[in-house]
Amino acid sequence: MQGQQRASEVNTNACFGLFNADCLILSAFVSDRRGLDMPSMKVMSTTPVGGFTHRSYRPSLPAASALLPYLQEIDRNRWYTNFGPLALQFEARLAAQYAVDPSRIVTVANCTAGLTLLLQSYAASPGGYEAGTFCALPSWTFIASAAAVVQAGLIPWFLDVEQESWQLTPDLVDSALPSAPGPVAAVMPVAPFGDRVDAAAWAAFRAKHDIPVVLDAAAGFDSVTKANAPAVVSLHATKPLGVGEGGLVLAESAAQAENIRRRSNFGFDRHHEAVWPGQNAKLSEYAAAVGLASLDVWPETRAAFTASAEVYRKVFAKLGLGAVLSLCFSRCDVNTGCTLQLDTPQALAVVEQLRAKGIEARQWWGQGCHAQAAYTGYPRGPLPVTEDLARRSLALPYHPEMSCADIVEIVEALRSVVVQRAE
Ligand SMILES: *Cc1c(COP(=O)(O)O)cnc(C)c1O
Repeated sequence: MQGQQRASEVNTNACFGLFNADCLILSAFVSDRRGLDMPSMKVMSTTPVGGFTHRSYRPSLPAASALLPYLQEIDRNRWYTNFGPLALQFEARLAAQYAVDPSRIVTVANCTAGLTLLLQSYAASPGGYEAGTFCALPSWTFIASAAAVVQAGLIPWFLDVEQESWQLTPDLVDSALPSAPGPVAAVMPVAPFGDRVDAAAWAAFRAKHDIPVVLDAAAGFDSVTKANAPAVVSLHATKPLGVGEGGLVLAESAAQAENIRRRSNFGFDRHHEAVWPGQNAKLSEYAAAVGLASLDVWPETRAAFTASAEVYRKVFAKLGLGAVLSLCFSRCDVNTGCTLQLDTPQALAVVEQLRAKGIEARQWWGQGCHAQAAYTGYPRGPLPVTEDLARRSLALPYHPEMSCADIVEIVEALRSVVVQRAE
């Protein structure tokens, strides 16, 4: 294994001779980070899975040995779900991370449910929204955002995103509002692929229009801050901090968090009276155990993300690729995918050609939500940027355990398939 590792470093140097030091740093992270029971990642990452040498993402939840102490705690407690001690401990540690009182963090079964409950918490009547009320959201997002809007009893109104940031911005909503299809009860901006979102600008929007702003920060575990509250983060296995299935709501107040907690448990009050219609969206103790063990190694995971991101950025800075990294990938290390924009509208062909070479490139958000069968009937504004991103953007494989050689191979393949714009 050592021999192979050295060989890939030499190979990397021969390719570009650019980032010797990065490769060594990266190898150091890779060999240290998951403890003794992890086989070397160099071997694993070159084993084709599902026909791909490079998967778009390689989830790495804590190993069984790291979970054991927490599982034994569950055995001792004999408490398996319903706001158990591990879920509370997990919430307390998340609260410390975001520097808020633990009363403002609610763990939930998944981010989609969290977004639904959060939207419902703003309904004037506890029973829900009046029929014919809209929620503005970008079409450029994962379908879960739109699903949550419908589940919450609102009608999606799809808007376009800004070209540079791939985000729905307060300015875009501001100028679209006069042509809204009906009353707008909420706005749901989305943090694309883990990007930061301008909290001050959205606070100003909310103050101006008195419309709640609910942030879908599904991939934003590392970038969301308390200033972005209310926001929901996904803890799905493919997101930066995974527990399998899970989510966390960063509520704007303890009262809102309590409202969401109640809605996540059938709408029961303290006396087991269902005072509102609710659903079951609680996080089990087992998922909380995975979350706690994931948090234990988060600093190492984060450092490994940073190392991978820096190699990608260096390669992109040095080589003419006919593509630029997304703003999100340029400014955030913890991303779900190395997202980029091609100079020319050939994303579909590039994705297919990369896949034929064993590289699982993806267009995570397809043509946008408005183009998906279940959502074509909903109102939308003009979507020129969304349509352009559908033709020009894609994601290269990205995860914290990539080696320098992996990245070099992927970028080399990209360079070989992208048709350069004629000068
Ligand atoms: C992953 C994702 C979701 C859904 O998260 P789940 O925890 O799987 O429900 C919602 N919105 C966006 C933008 C996502 O990327």
